[in-house]
Amino acid sequence: MRDGTFRAAAKWVARLRFAADLRAVRAWRRQRSGPTFDLGGDCRRCAACCEAPAIRANAAVWHLRSARAAFLWWQRAVNGFELVEARRLERTFVFRCTHFDPQTRLCDSYETRPGMCRDYPRGLLDQPAPELLPGCGYRPIAPGALRMLTALDSQRISDEQRARLKRDLRLE
Ligand code: SF4
Ligand code: SF4
Repeated sequence: MRDGTFRAAAKWVARLRFAADLRAVRAWRRQRSGPTFDLGGDCRRCAACCEAPAIRANAAVWHLRSARAAFLWWQRAVNGFELVEARRLERTFVFRCTHFDPQTRLCDSYETRPGMCRDYPRGLLDQPAPELLPGCGYRPIAPGALRMLTALDSQRISDEQRARLKRDLRLE
């Protein structure tokens, strides 16, 4: 169901908080672990990221009954995410989004979609080997890719080897 005024306002406030948290966490990670992957490509609007939105919970939300209930209530009441599965090993909740129409593959509240929908797949870029959803038009580009491409171009290797190295090392 399309967002009304109340849900749109609540999501706007949540987005501000989400963006502030992301900025802080990513700055901290960059300082601690150095540069992460860059984001190449574009969104193809395939909606693969709408099929089963997933959120990794922190320890408090996962283990404390009241925190978990409040979190899931918020996801259902505000974001329109209905719980489908709780994956214990990954500490991750997987949802069905009630705004997603699988026939048209459109979001009925795209203008008010949550921060996590706007951010995908940037949250994966600090992983050692980011795996994006199949069909996603974005791709991770390794830190220092330009320098490595220049070095690779000066090597005496076949075009096939060059192409494979570029792909495996995520240089473009
Ligand atoms: S709110 Fe919209 S963009 Fe986000 S998962 Fe649902 S359908 Fe996709
Ligand atoms: S999976 Fe990637 S290309 Fe498809 S809609 Fe989401 S961000 Fe865009």
